[in-house]
Amino acid sequence: MKHLVVLGGGTGGTVIANRMCARLGADWRVTVIDRDDQHIYQPGLLLLPFGVNHERELVRSRRRTLDRAVRLELGEVRALDRATRTVHLADGRSVGWDVLVVATGCQPAPGETAGLTDGGWGVTTHEFYTLAGSMRLRDALRGFRGGRVVVNFVDLPIKCPVAPLEMAFLLEAMATERGVRAATEIVYATPLEGAFSKPIASRVLGDVMAARGISVVPDFSVSEVDGAGGAIRAFDGRSVPFDLLVTVPVNSPDPLVAAAGLGDAGGWMRVDRHTLQSLVDPTIFGIGDTTDVPTSKAGAAAHYQAEALATVLEHYLADQPLPPAYDGHATCFVETGHGRAMLLDFDYAHEPATGRYPLPGVGPFTLLEESAANHWGKLAFKWMYWNGLLPGGELPMESRYSSLGKWS
Ligand SMILES: Cc1cc2nc3c(=O)[nH]c(=O)nc-3n(C[C@H](O)[C@H](O)[C@H](O)COP(=O)(O)OP(=O)(O)OC[C@H]3O[C@@H](n4cnc5c(N)ncnc54)[C@H](O)[C@@H]3O)c2cc1C
Repeated sequence: MKHLVVLGGGTGGTVIANRMCARLGADWRVTVIDRDDQHIYQPGLLLLPFGVNHERELVRSRRRTLDRAVRLELGEVRALDRATRTVHLADGRSVGWDVLVVATGCQPAPGETAGLTDGGWGVTTHEFYTLAGSMRLRDALRGFRGGRVVVNFVDLPIKCPVAPLEMAFLLEAMATERGVRAATEIVYATPLEGAFSKPIASRVLGDVMAARGISVVPDFSVSEVDGAGGAIRAFDGRSVPFDLLVTVPVNSPDPLVAAAGLGDAGGWMRVDRHTLQSLVDPTIFGIGDTTDVPTSKAGAAAHYQAEALATVLEHYLADQPLPPAYDGHATCFVETGHGRAMLLDFDYAHEPATGRYPLPGVGPFTLLEESAANHWGKLAFKWMYWNGLLPGGELPMESRYSSLGKWS
């Protein structure tokens, strides 16, 4: 019996395991290994602090998200032995692979920034990239009556790079709805030159921020957080004071990638950007946030990659040349508050453009333009995630980018 082993039962790992389970013959076994049995719908962590999502809607047992034929092993993966093709777990168990897919994502690492987890952490200083952090922020916002709110992220890459922007927009909308907008100042401090990393989207999103009265502090590279004193400091000596800080800490890949010799200088897994095959070991493939592919770290990208990787693996197992199946496609809803959202769609070669999506000229979603339809699309995505995408169903949109009906 041959063995496909998937490390990580999050978005990318679950979809590829379910898809391959349906495609592989009876001589293959599929195993997913994850450290816990809690699959979290991470986009909901942005909305939970505002009462839009409740934690019970965001967490499911991994067992429930995986095809019955997929074996689930719960345990911390400690090391990979590439010479013997063996995964070692912290509790002493080991699992051998014929093909390995690494889908271990990335995690916030607040301890990497000086002062961030000292005085004020969880009181005046918050993160929303974990369920616990998102719930603490919800509690803190319950009594919000105004003040100086700073939203920032420490450094790129982070998963869902639009999430801090969305947080700023949602805080602005919340202050308006509560009638305390005049008593609230919202500041977006970013290490980038503008609102976003992609120039066209950055301009458009910067305009929306200006229209909402959110001030942007660009090129702000955080050196230190003083939670008790209420200030973030940059390496260039500037300081931004706050009453409430909502930050996205540094995001780190799991250290096992680097320890196995699969990573780049930052520990991200080096893969061919079109086939997702490891650049150092042909029996290993990567998917999702843990890889170094130059596109957004997003669930949508992981879904598109799963479709591409399923095709690549079929060729690999048939000893055929690997097709360049993944084009960098990513699609991101950007909540802008007040019941509206924007949608960005891009790949390695194309910047986000305007137009309609997914049906060119029809929509119902509007690209690079705010609309209520986009907002409802973002909310509806949770249902689609649990019921359509995770089980490995066909995507309701093309996994490859299309320029049809789009213009810059
Ligand atoms: C606040 C927030 C909002 C977001 N919003 C959006 C959005 O609107 N749209 C969008 O497309 N994306 C969004 N994302 C990003 C999206 O959730 C991720 O990009 C996606 O989950 C990546 O999938 P993945 O499989 O690479 O990693 P994950 O889904 O994070 O899964 C990684 C898995 O690996 C396991 N693991 C890691 N190391 C080990 C180990 N050593 N041993 C055992 N198990 C291990 C973890 O337990 C985890 O289950 C958001 C993320 C956040 C935090």
